[in-house]
Amino acid sequence: MPIHPELEQIKISDIREPFPGPKALAFLERTRRTESPATATFGIGAHPVVMERGEGVVIHDPDGNVFLDFVAGFGVLNTGHGHPRVVEAVKRQAEKLIHLMGAVSTTRTDLLDALTEITPGKGPKRVLFGVGGGEAVDMAIRLVRYYGKKYEIFAFYGAYHGRPYGALSLMGRGVGRQGLQPMLPGVVHVPYAYCYRCPFELQYPGCGIACGRFVENAVKGQATGVAEPAAIIVEPLQGNGGMIPAPPEFLQELRRICDENGILLIADEVMSGWGRTGKWFAIEHSGVEPDVFVVGKALGGGLPLSAVICRAEIADLWEPSRDSSTLAGNPVACAAGLATIDVLKSELLAENAAAVGAYFLEQLREIADEFPMVGDVRGLGLMLGVEMVKDRQTKEPLAGAGRRVAQLCLRQGLLIYPSGGHSGNVFGFLPPLIIDRSHVDTAVEIVRKSLAEHQREVQAGHG
Ligand code: PMP
Repeated sequence: MPIHPELEQIKISDIREPFPGPKALAFLERTRRTESPATATFGIGAHPVVMERGEGVVIHDPDGNVFLDFVAGFGVLNTGHGHPRVVEAVKRQAEKLIHLMGAVSTTRTDLLDALTEITPGKGPKRVLFGVGGGEAVDMAIRLVRYYGKKYEIFAFYGAYHGRPYGALSLMGRGVGRQGLQPMLPGVVHVPYAYCYRCPFELQYPGCGIACGRFVENAVKGQATGVAEPAAIIVEPLQGNGGMIPAPPEFLQELRRICDENGILLIADEVMSGWGRTGKWFAIEHSGVEPDVFVVGKALGGGLPLSAVICRAEIADLWEPSRDSSTLAGNPVACAAGLATIDVLKSELLAENAAAVGAYFLEQLREIADEFPMVGDVRGLGLMLGVEMVKDRQTKEPLAGAGRRVAQLCLRQGLLIYPSGGHSGNVFGFLPPLIIDRSHVDTAVEIVRKSLAEHQREVQAGHG
């Protein structure tokens, strides 16, 4: 039974030629004239798309094209575009109070309660609001350093935590950091549990979680130079790095290492939280409770809002008014956040993500068998990725294939997450959690055609 039967009425259209159409092109040209290419999101991967209107799982461009949206604003619109209850909450709050600082807003207090209730872990908790995910990551760094009076932060190869300098310093990829050095001192990068490309050339589950042992040695500073480790920050399912779920045992190992060495475990759930993987938080699949959660994206239902949630004792060491961000915890964003939580709960969207996501994964694995250039299909719930290779034996990455497949999907009316992975050879899916199997069938068919087309291109030497 579809969650939103009315969405069944909307069919994605054949994309009209020329594409982008004349109206979209005019907007793109105007945008290009003034917006810095560094932040121009129209340039993201394969998306020269102008969006005029979104409803549920589809978006419309100004030329009358309709797209099935399997990227949801990069994992933000978990309740879909324009969910009526989220829209209503935003309108009502905007009429009452749009902004304040230095005073308590009723909506913000309601959201504080909701957040501490949702987050696993007993005992009192504290919430610190931010505006974006990267800002909250920065806040978490300040928090753990201040708490422990220690400074080294462990982050992982392939990690993505945002662009503010602290978060950027944690990034496990060189590209985003070139020309911007020096980074924040005290960040130590260690290999992630990337089983498809195990850094130790072992095979899960017989590997004994060698990557965990590596982290342990690094933390203990056995000839590594590490002196005062403060925290480990981990994406339980690496998103930007290539949609890589860490095995539960790896996260359990990190928990043990943190406990035995008096350091804090930070889970960055900016992309993987809010029901996306089939549970509120991806780390819940492992049973591990981190000390600090970082959340953003879907938290504000599309409005800018992020948060750090931690045990009270960690935050209470920080003296009052030692940290702030003027727009953080804005009442309209908080109202959208409350409505989002309400919809996620009442429409059982995490459960839907688990069920539809399992079906989606199965369908993708089936078509993968047809294409030798698909090396791996993986993910949890509705956070899935496909890694492309030149050769299944050597696993040599098919560099740039993520973007190309996304372009081919776009021309058939499907928006996907275009480029991830260490060589841009992963494409992914972050659809709204309201999708059903029929949306998956449509998407999988388009992906199948796009893979076939890309295979022809590669064979012809144009890939
Ligand atoms: N952490 C993770 C895991 C993310 O995926 C992202 C954004 N993709 C961020 C942090 C940064 O969030 P923002 O873009 O809102 O700063």
